[in-house]
Amino acid sequence: MRIIVIGSGLMGLASAYYLSEHGHEVTVIDRQQGPALETSFANAGVIHSSQAGPWNAPGIALQVLKWMGKEDSPFLLRPNAIPSLIGWGLSFIRHSRPNRFRANLKKNAALASYNIQCMQEFLEQHPFDYCASSLGVMKVIQKEQDMEKEIASMSFYKSVGIQNEVLNQAEIFSKEPALIENGQNLIGGIYFPGDQAGDAYQFCVQLTDLLRKKNVQFEYDLTVDEFLTSNNVITAIKTSKGEYSGDSYVLAAGSYSPLLTKKLGLNIPIRPVKGYSITLDMSDWEAKPLMPIIDDEAHVAITPLGNQLRAAGTAELNGYKDEINQYRIQLVLDQVINRYPEAKKHINYEEINSWCGFRPITVDGVPIIGDAPTYKNLYLNTGHGHLGWTLAMGSGKLVADNISGHNTTLDIGSYALNRF
Ligand SMILES: Cc1cc2nc3c(=O)[nH]c(=O)nc-3n(C[C@H](O)[C@H](O)[C@H](O)COP(=O)(O)OP(=O)(O)OC[C@H]3O[C@@H](n4cnc5c(N)ncnc54)[C@H](O)[C@@H]3O)c2cc1C
Repeated sequence: MRIIVIGSGLMGLASAYYLSEHGHEVTVIDRQQGPALETSFANAGVIHSSQAGPWNAPGIALQVLKWMGKEDSPFLLRPNAIPSLIGWGLSFIRHSRPNRFRANLKKNAALASYNIQCMQEFLEQHPFDYCASSLGVMKVIQKEQDMEKEIASMSFYKSVGIQNEVLNQAEIFSKEPALIENGQNLIGGIYFPGDQAGDAYQFCVQLTDLLRKKNVQFEYDLTVDEFLTSNNVITAIKTSKGEYSGDSYVLAAGSYSPLLTKKLGLNIPIRPVKGYSITLDMSDWEAKPLMPIIDDEAHVAITPLGNQLRAAGTAELNGYKDEINQYRIQLVLDQVINRYPEAKKHINYEEINSWCGFRPITVDGVPIIGDAPTYKNLYLNTGHGHLGWTLAMGSGKLVADNISGHNTTLDIGSYALNRF
């Protein structure tokens, strides 16, 4: 089959890889000049089943209302974004009921674990160099009540395959000595040995090179405007440089996916949730941090990537406005300095790489993978929210198996759009 993949972020590239492995003729189209230049560019770099829980955890509605309009809040809802969020928002809240939250966490955990398996098989054949780390991830905790809450949910995490160990303060310091300097307020943590980390952008660049060698075609600097249809079949896509047609189409346009399906009458319940990251060169710091940490209280993840330290966090519901708000960048930087005061001596303030991206968040916090209703030759691989790097290769394999008529390892119905 001739298949057109829209989007060359993590989802588009992973889909293209498995589709080409199945013998299809694949073309990847993206409006950017190269691979992974939007949300897959500078994420926190963590492949973390430990974060499989959707963001709409029980209690989220009150929490977001409490934070509304507060510039320094970790989850900022801007009042002017509310009209575009009404239907999505109500559904997002409905999915925060405890039973739904657990069911959705379980789906993400299953896909995260499948992803690790796919990654392992892939890397055995293609040993990419992307600052990969298999040291696990440590969640650090400050408050007794948070520790109790975490411990209470850890047996459920184990039951869905997410291994974890509860650590006291001495144990977190021994895993990450760089925390000692300002770690008096940390009472312990949870260690997730199965989590990994790596630079998603570097991975995508190498995957693109590999795909080119496998004769996958890339069309960059090409914006897809709309799908053309006849009798519930996509016949072509209209782009900024003319029409392109294939036998099937995979939509992997991240947060922009719903904008493209709107004209087809397909509602994809995704909204963009903006996040920020900074990347700091730490090559002159000998005792730099070794292990990715997650600090839920500060809403930040700090990940060593080779000689760099990447810190990412904050969430903002404010439509598709992609300007970088320096105040929110400063909040992320403050968290790095707070956790690792020694870092201050090594930061070159002129050369901080600041970035923002839109997490494509679905109403239930689970990605949308597989057939699109109504249109027989349209497939979706989108809506991975805060988990795109954690789920990419598994999702690519699922959608490619689905399109090729192979049995899928996981029940693809759990991820299909028609679950809503
Ligand atoms: C601050 C932050 C930190 C994160 N940290 C992590 C983490 O540690 N671990 C993790 O698992 N996930 C993390 N994520 C989430 C992860 O980065 C995303 O889920 C993932 O990148 C989404 O990939 P994608 O391929 O769906 O979207 P994208 O990477 O956005 O790719 C979509 C592509 O489609 C193209 N496109 C869109 N519309 C059109 C059009 N009309 N025509 C042509 N091309 C189009 C875009 O140019 C883009 O290249 C983080 C996200 C953010 C913002």
